[in-house]
Amino acid sequence: MSFVEMQVTVLELNWHEIDRFLIGEAWAGSQISQHVTELCDVIGPRWGGSNEDRRAAEYIHRQMELAGLDRAEIEPFKLDTWDHGAVTITMPDVDGGRTISSLPFLRCKPIDISTRLVDVGFASAHEVESAAGRIKDSIVLASIIPEPFTTAEPFTARLMRLSESGAACVVAIEPKTGGRMEYSNSDEWLNTGPQKNALAVVKTSSEDGAYLRRIASTSPTIRVSVDARYFDSQAYNTVAELTGETHPERHLILAGHHDTVLRAPGGNDNASGTIGVMETARVMAALVRELGVRPGMSIRFATWSGEEQHLQGSTAYVARHHAEDGDEREAAPLLNINLDELSTGHMKGVVLNFPHLRKFIQEQLDTMDDGLKCHVLAHMDAHSDHFPFARQAIDASILWRWRFWGRHETANFHHEMGDAANKLNVRELKEYAGQIARLLLRLSHVAPDDWPTNPLTLSDVNGMIERDAGRHHPAFH
Ligand SMILES: [Zn+2]
Repeated sequence: MSFVEMQVTVLELNWHEIDRFLIGEAWAGSQISQHVTELCDVIGPRWGGSNEDRRAAEYIHRQMELAGLDRAEIEPFKLDTWDHGAVTITMPDVDGGRTISSLPFLRCKPIDISTRLVDVGFASAHEVESAAGRIKDSIVLASIIPEPFTTAEPFTARLMRLSESGAACVVAIEPKTGGRMEYSNSDEWLNTGPQKNALAVVKTSSEDGAYLRRIASTSPTIRVSVDARYFDSQAYNTVAELTGETHPERHLILAGHHDTVLRAPGGNDNASGTIGVMETARVMAALVRELGVRPGMSIRFATWSGEEQHLQGSTAYVARHHAEDGDEREAAPLLNINLDELSTGHMKGVVLNFPHLRKFIQEQLDTMDDGLKCHVLAHMDAHSDHFPFARQAIDASILWRWRFWGRHETANFHHEMGDAANKLNVRELKEYAGQIARLLLRLSHVAPDDWPTNPLTLSDVNGMIERDAGRHHPAFH
């Protein structure tokens, strides 16, 4: 054994040395600025199935190769997608045909309808009941925010109510002010709400919504026109891996989606998470190269397409790799860490879907001495790519996302044009990459048999989904 090899053996689990390297490399070797420029400015909006989505996947894949990962691949999948052309809301009989600001909900069906406008307030049960006779075949005006002082209901559940009452179309009022409008979904991803093309829903700005509300009592004629189409496309996930030293056959997976909604450069949602994956992979590969320290289990680094279109990329991946009838079935990861919208402030910890790993993960976090906390979600959360893993009873987690307390103002931007490159905080993302690399390396060096057993079955998980479907997300704001 040469002197250098001996050093490597001795240093293998010298955590002080390892942490110093990972944090230093995440900071001083950072390629975050280059990646955010390429993804948000050069490539730009990355709607799943588009040419830009493919270019993003190719860029990420190339960067993973350059970073020295042991394996880097692109996994294509078929995407059930949608896009839209012109969308207008006009008032032919008012103020000389005044035009109202408009944005279709994602996957809104094509429609061209001219009929009376009916204001149903927040579309609460009592409001829809008292307007029942007027809703059928009408264009209905409804606030996305829930009615104050009631038990909060998600907008998707209220849309379901309007769909069942026979509304022809809904004009939804954006809660954000100043003309901002973000793309939203009309169906709840825990499967409540009108599915696919059941009901056309178009958004208007907070200001124009207030205007429509002022004139609604006169039952004016309103015209809503949406040029949209559904079609199949090809989309691309990227998957790279760093092979483990002691248990290469088992793995942990760090992932985030690289796609965006239409027209959004996606600085926060989700160049931040994508680059979090890329940078963590880079510093861990550098650790192998420069200090000879490999993870114990393998670490997989993936970026998904189609997240904004019902988590289709991560769903396709889980079906292919981990479902019973998957084409490339292999052992499930011991943990999925999902990175989505990291512009929430500095790293605070890990939020698990299921409780049984809480103490175990917290013990690992405690060895890092940064005050990081492990929390557990009290409900099934279907709003990002951890969900397809959790749905297969695989342990999955998220970080401190935009919907939680104590976030940055920049985390208020997603699904809109204003979510540009400047909504990604470079310095904080350096910290994320270093911290996540430290945590993953620690977790990978606990032998799979020493992890707490995952007691969940698919039917347990289905029970949880059923329990939570249609309920208001307690920390969703
Ligand atoms: Zn996202």
